[in-house]
Amino acid sequence: MKTIAVLTSGGDAPGMNAAVRAVVRTACENGMKVYGVIRGYNGLINGDFVEMDLRSVSDIINRGGTILYSARSAEFATEEGMQKAIDQCHKWGIEGVVVIGGDGSFRGARDLSERGIPCVGVPGTIDNDIACCDYTIGYDTCLNTIMDMVDRIRDTSESHDRCSIVEVMGRRAGYLALNAGIACGATSILIPEVPFDIEKHVIERMKKTQKTDKKHFIIIVAEGCGIDLEKLTKEIQEKTGVESRYTILGHVQRGGYATVKDRVMATRMGNYAVKLLMNNIGNRVVAAQKEEVVDYDIFEALNMTKSIDMDLYNVAHEVSI
Ligand code: ATP
Repeated sequence: MKTIAVLTSGGDAPGMNAAVRAVVRTACENGMKVYGVIRGYNGLINGDFVEMDLRSVSDIINRGGTILYSARSAEFATEEGMQKAIDQCHKWGIEGVVVIGGDGSFRGARDLSERGIPCVGVPGTIDNDIACCDYTIGYDTCLNTIMDMVDRIRDTSESHDRCSIVEVMGRRAGYLALNAGIACGATSILIPEVPFDIEKHVIERMKKTQKTDKKHFIIIVAEGCGIDLEKLTKEIQEKTGVESRYTILGHVQRGGYATVKDRVMATRMGNYAVKLLMNNIGNRVVAAQKEEVVDYDIFEALNMTKSIDMDLYNVAHEVSI
C-alpha cells in the first residue's frame, strides 16, 4: 500500500493522539502518503481528509482528546453511507484505513474490509471493554484521573465523617469501577458483571466496619449498574446514620494528559497497525495481551467475550473493610 488514512471514532480517549502520531510518522517514514480523516466515519463519507506529514503530529503525544475529532455516524451504519465512504476512498486513492476506536468502530472497520477497503482497528476507549484486549488506549489515564478525583472527595468525606458514593464511567463494563475502587480503598464496589444486593453489599459492609470505628466511606458505582444514586444515597443515610453524598464524575474522566502507559502502548499499536497495512494485511484488530502487541481477525475479535477478573473482585472485598 502507498496511501492510507487514519481516523478516530466513538468516544474520545487520552492516548488517541499518540496513536495518530505513531500512524502518521510510521507511514511517512516508510514512504506512504497518509490522510487524516476529520470526525470519524462522517469524515470518510464526506471526503473530509487532510494530508498529514511528520510535523502535522508534533506536540500532540501528551494531549487528551483527538486532533482528528471524533463522531458517532448513524449514516455510516447504512448501506448508502458505507458506499459513499468506499467511493471517497477510491476517489482519493486510499488503499487502507487505520480505525482508532471501540468495538462499534471495529464493526464499521469489518464492514469496510469486507467491501474491499482493508482496515486495521486500534483499540481506543476508556472503558477497556474490548474482548480481545487486556488493555485499551485511554483506560490507564482514565483510571488515574478517577483515583485522583476520588482522593480529593475522600479528603472532604473524612473531614465530615461522610459516605461518598461516586459513579464512574463504564456503560457495559466494570473494569474502571473495580480497579479504581481497589486503588481508592472503596468499602463497596458495584459493577454490572456481578449481581449485587444493596443491603448485603453496601449496608452490611458499612455496619460491619462502623463497629471497628470507621466513620467515612467511599462507595464506587459503575454507570452500567443503572443505579438511582439519589435513592441509594438516601437509603445509606437512613440505614447507617452516616451523612451521605453522591458525585457523578462524568466527562472529567475522559480528558487530560495521557499517562506513560497510554502514550507508550498507543505508539506501539499505531506503529504495528501501519506495518500490517504495509504488508497488505487488513481486516485485523491490534490488541494488547500481557504487555505484548498482537493482532486478530476483526470478525474473530468481535466474537470474543471477556469476563471480569473475579479473583480481583474478591481481593477488593476482602481487603476494603
Ligand atoms: P466507545 O466504546 O468509546 O463508545 P465505539 O467505537 O464502540 O467507542 P460506537 O458509537 O459504538 O463507539 O461506534 C462508533 C461508530 O462506528 C458508529 O457511530 C458507527 O458509525 C460505526 N458503527 C458502529 N456499529 C456499526 C455496525 N454494526 N456497522 C457499521 N458501522 C458501525
